[in-house]
Amino acid sequence: MADTTPLVIATRNPGKTAEIRELLKGFPVQIGNIEDFGPIPEVEEDGQTFEENAYKKASFTARVLGLPALADDSGLVVEALGGAPGVYSARFAGDHATDAERCARLLAELAGKTDRRAAFECVISIAVPTGQALTYEARCEGLIAEKPVGRNGFGYDPIFYYPPLYKTFAELTRAEKNHISHRGKALAEIKREMKKVLIWIRQHMPVFEKFH
Ligand code: IMP
Repeated sequence: MADTTPLVIATRNPGKTAEIRELLKGFPVQIGNIEDFGPIPEVEEDGQTFEENAYKKASFTARVLGLPALADDSGLVVEALGGAPGVYSARFAGDHATDAERCARLLAELAGKTDRRAAFECVISIAVPTGQALTYEARCEGLIAEKPVGRNGFGYDPIFYYPPLYKTFAELTRAEKNHISHRGKALAEIKREMKKVLIWIRQHMPVFEKFH
């Protein structure tokens, strides 16, 4: 199709790519996966906020490939821990820890604490090669459970209890989780605004002059 807009998904997480592809079905967007472009350098996620990291990933990928790119950064924010693990959610129990080890570490840090309030937060950045970007963010509030429950999902899902459904995220189906989750809500907002997003991308893409 001549008037499709290319968009590179700047994540190496196949679960996230699948979710985003599903969301953008039916829109005139030609989705590329970062893996399709061969080895490009990894971005260091050393920002202090989800927004900084999402922007870093999206703008770096857009600059390197010369194409619009979308990236997300997300994590768990726990009240009684002053917002930790936050941007360190993926590395909370060391670089090579498993999801189960990260959950165990968090439960240990919260042992004896009565304030169990927490929220998943997600920021999605859509950037063009010149560095301009659109930002979407959403959060989902819940409580940290006393022990892991459920087998679905990933990350901290087994210990994130969602009071309106009386279940942890790991007890929800993917569709149920997408409906209420931080990432699902941010993606839903992008979907609602998709026409405007595509116009914005086209208007902000650099135009290369042809030499004759
Ligand atoms: P990143 O956004 O890929 O840098 O990593 C975010 C980290 O936050 C993941 O490794 C998980 O540990 C955690 N996380 C983010 N979203 C979710 C979720 O929906 N469920 C459970 N854990 C999550």
